[in-house]
Amino acid sequence: MTTQTQTTLPQNRWNDAEAPSGDGLASLAYRSRLLGSDRTLVNIYGGNTSTKSTEKDHLGRDVTVLWVKGSGSDIASITEKGFAGLKLDEVTPLFARAAMSDEEMTAYLDRTAFEVGRPRQSIETLLHAFVPAKHVDHTHPDAIIAVACTPNGPDIMREIYGDRAAWVDYIRPGFTLSQQIGAAVRDNPGLECVVMGKHGLVTWGDSSKESYEKTLRIIGEAQAYLDAHQEAAPFGGAAVSSVPEAERGALLERVLPILRGAMKGARPVILNLDASPDVMEFVNSKAAATLSQVGAACPDHLVHTKRTPLYLDWTPDQGADALERAAKAGVERFRTEYEAYFNENKSDGDVMFTPSPRVVLIPGLGMVNSGPDAMGADVSRQLYLRAIRVMKSASSLGGFVSLSAAESYAIEYWPLELYKLSLKPAPKALEGHVALVTGAASGIGRAIAHRLSADGAHIVIADLNLDGGTAVAEDLTAQRGFRRATSVGMNVTEEEQVRGAYSHALLAYGGVDIVVNNAGIASSAPIEETSLEMWNRNQSILSTGYFLVAREAFILMKRQATGGNLVFIGSKNSVAAGKNAAAYSTAKAAELHLARCLAEEGGAAGIRVNSVLPDGILAGSSIWDGKWRAERAATYGIDPDKLEEFYRNRTTLKVNVLPEDIAEATFWLASPAAAKTTGGVITVDGGVPIAYVR
Ligand SMILES: [Zn+2]
Repeated sequence: MTTQTQTTLPQNRWNDAEAPSGDGLASLAYRSRLLGSDRTLVNIYGGNTSTKSTEKDHLGRDVTVLWVKGSGSDIASITEKGFAGLKLDEVTPLFARAAMSDEEMTAYLDRTAFEVGRPRQSIETLLHAFVPAKHVDHTHPDAIIAVACTPNGPDIMREIYGDRAAWVDYIRPGFTLSQQIGAAVRDNPGLECVVMGKHGLVTWGDSSKESYEKTLRIIGEAQAYLDAHQEAAPFGGAAVSSVPEAERGALLERVLPILRGAMKGARPVILNLDASPDVMEFVNSKAAATLSQVGAACPDHLVHTKRTPLYLDWTPDQGADALERAAKAGVERFRTEYEAYFNENKSDGDVMFTPSPRVVLIPGLGMVNSGPDAMGADVSRQLYLRAIRVMKSASSLGGFVSLSAAESYAIEYWPLELYKLSLKPAPKALEGHVALVTGAASGIGRAIAHRLSADGAHIVIADLNLDGGTAVAEDLTAQRGFRRATSVGMNVTEEEQVRGAYSHALLAYGGVDIVVNNAGIASSAPIEETSLEMWNRNQSILSTGYFLVAREAFILMKRQATGGNLVFIGSKNSVAAGKNAAAYSTAKAAELHLARCLAEEGGAAGIRVNSVLPDGILAGSSIWDGKWRAERAATYGIDPDKLEEFYRNRTTLKVNVLPEDIAEATFWLASPAAAKTTGGVITVDGGVPIAYVR
């Protein structure tokens, strides 16, 4: 059955008023960003564009420079600095060669650089050099890939474009593919585009604007064809219905820790959920189980999605226990199959990537993507969403075909791709870790959140003060990047709110690895004046609250089965008797004892529990508010507003501990550097151990 669906032609975003004058590098950067701004046209981190322009060299001579996208930047945000510049006259003679290995090609092109200090040229540079047009665009548009990934692609291409298009069969990008594309364009003067089987599109023009508009027009023609041929039920219709919103959370809470635990390689991963209509149509469909296993929709996707997703063998009517079993069996099956794929295709010296899925499809629930961080998980999500759209269109054209296992392997373990990865900075100590910090809207907790985030952790700010917590989370995200922190309102004394905070963390990132028990209060009074209310309040926040937060941490961490890490922020008073602070000190002592009991209990599961005991905390700590401040100030006979200054200046006693000092000790205990320490206590006392030793 064929139905007319809504036409979705790409939108022309060229604006003459905004476009840079001239037709050189600045214009190329502008055109590239326009193309990248529509993610249905170019993969994130994929696609490449070029311009050939005349420049003056260091001797004042005219040189034709091929400006081509450099390796590693994203076309949507690229600036002039993101392009490599090559001396075209030194590159074009390569067209006459019979063959060239990737290594020879890269070494040769490196020596044709027009300027020092520019990024290495894209792997697909030679196709830009060999196409004899001033401006060239290589894109991966969904509409073209749908045609390129269907068995009768060449026929459909001719139906759409007549002899204005040429087809090249799939081979891995490199010299030979570039030569084939260059030859097709040189041999056919009337040609408007080259469709690359199972890969993408090459288009060109005499000006930047013409190249951009032609790219859009060519894609639009394919899109119009697809729209006219789209079947109403391209995935064979629905096999299951989406789980009702009210039941989703509970099911996800059961399955996400299992998946995240199983996906951990050398370090934990961050998960991302997508239940958008396009995703649900696919995961709920009759065809998804088999169609999802055909392969990637574009070689560029592979590095971020792996060749195939894990499709869970489960339906919503089977319930939560079956879901957990399906997840465990699924990751085990994926591991076995991935190891077989690796062993069948490997070359000497190849080292297997973590044999766990980057994409998990769950009927009724949606798609789960993993990545080394939230951005990486989102890249995987974006690319698989595009794969779904490609499969949808290709299915209506006669079926979806993809790279073979060997072709996929050659991309996934391509030395040039591995080189790109090697350019990335080494991961920080807590990359991929999720840390839940209580009382992190201010003071010590906020300093801890910042410290853990600085070393790569994704942070869940849990605080009674939701507005304050949200401000800290926004601050962290602004500093560290996409989805690096989130906040949730939580009263540590309320069992349901504590559970709610962990649910929030699970749905945001897929799990929790580090929990910092920090929420606190301070009070002081002689025992005769200590009210029952004050006594109970100290117990309820510092003792019961720490228990509730730690108990939920243990429950979750044991389900993830990847160990875990708890840090309790105690006090000098946890070990030293505090005059006029019996309620506080006793509760702080209970807290420390709880931490040591849990170290004993957690050891077998790889859960470490350590404590930091601060003394003399000053600036920024909210426990210095109100009555406590007034009392301290009265003790020393000074103005309460001068308290911080007074403590800071007590240098003769060296008691000048700052929240950042506590954060540093917490970071160390939470990091792999302390992997062999549990039940430990670090004092942060300003170098004056009186309180602990006496
Ligand atoms: Zn490509």
